[in-house]
Amino acid sequence: MTIQSIPLSQPEIDENDILAVNSVLKTPFLSLGPKQTQFEEAFARYLNVNHCQAVSSGTAALHLILSALDIKDGDEVITSPFSFIASANSILFNRALPVFCDIDAESFNLDIEKIESKITDKTKAILAVDVFGFPMDMEKLKNLADKYKLRLIEDACEALGAKRGEINAGSYADAAAFGFYPNKQMTTGEGGIVASNNETLVLKVKSLKNQGRSLEDNSLFVELGYNYRLSDINCALGLTQLDKINKMHEKRDIAADYYQQLLAEVEEIIPPYAEENVKRSWFVYVIELKKPCSAKKRDFIMKYLQANEIGCGKYFPAIHLQPFYTERFGYKEGDFPICESLAQRTIALPFFANMTWAQQKRVVDVLKEALSRA
Ligand SMILES: *Cc1c(COP(=O)(O)O)cnc(C)c1O
Repeated sequence: MTIQSIPLSQPEIDENDILAVNSVLKTPFLSLGPKQTQFEEAFARYLNVNHCQAVSSGTAALHLILSALDIKDGDEVITSPFSFIASANSILFNRALPVFCDIDAESFNLDIEKIESKITDKTKAILAVDVFGFPMDMEKLKNLADKYKLRLIEDACEALGAKRGEINAGSYADAAAFGFYPNKQMTTGEGGIVASNNETLVLKVKSLKNQGRSLEDNSLFVELGYNYRLSDINCALGLTQLDKINKMHEKRDIAADYYQQLLAEVEEIIPPYAEENVKRSWFVYVIELKKPCSAKKRDFIMKYLQANEIGCGKYFPAIHLQPFYTERFGYKEGDFPICESLAQRTIALPFFANMTWAQQKRVVDVLKEALSRA
């Protein structure tokens, strides 16, 4: 019998999604059509913010938020080295400098207590990332940002549906970015959104994503803009995905609970962090191998899983140690020790809404085998 491979992630596409995409193809509005507006409005309602702009990716959303906030040459933006590389890169797109701050060892998010020591007179903003769907304390961050007159940007690309108390992730900062790559909680193939209550900022994003075109006069170009538009084909998929987002979240919650159960007896690992009154939106299921654990041991376990056709990933490699960052900025090992320690001890296990219990059981059985041999 051949074993069935288990992917790291998998989008949930059903007949409704397919019909919605097909129906756009039968209209003349493949881009800048009615689906874009509908998607933006539906997303703003879901998130409880005033304005949204659909864009071509989560990375584009971050780039445009920073541009719209006029982050530029010589500015510093404080952010996390433990994130998907796009959050730091988006700062460099604007020729500003990402200033990394180490993270909290439990939540894996920026350590808010350490931010103040990174603020200089060049600091213009804090770019906070809700890592693995665990929402940061945006009220606390906003107080800190206000104290130093900084802008606050939330990279909520992994946190659609997360909540801290009554505050939805992505609804509280000056602006937030979401991404819809197929491994996210919902997908548009590729895509992203800028969400904000600041109308001026969002209108600027609307112009910038469309070549810097004036919003009043189609033949005038008032800024150096980009083509970061999201097609109506993608937006139609976004609408049907958003329709079932609560159901998809529920399935992910159930899958996460089942992993928790299965892993409770596995001594070598620390399960994902939880906090009272905070709802994580399950994006990936990342386990932490207890210290001491070398990168070599972690890599052995990953190879063992992969040899058994089980997808897994390094979430995240430390950004400051990526070749582009070490070569350009001279970062070295030891600069952000908590981030680095986690980067070598974490593994993302297969995780998606339609995962079966049998698949989860197999992942954990093989993981146990791997641990016993490591
Ligand atoms: C997915 C993601 C993004 C955006 O990625 P795109 O592929 O550009 O949509 C940005 N930041 C984080 C933390 C992410 O996980």
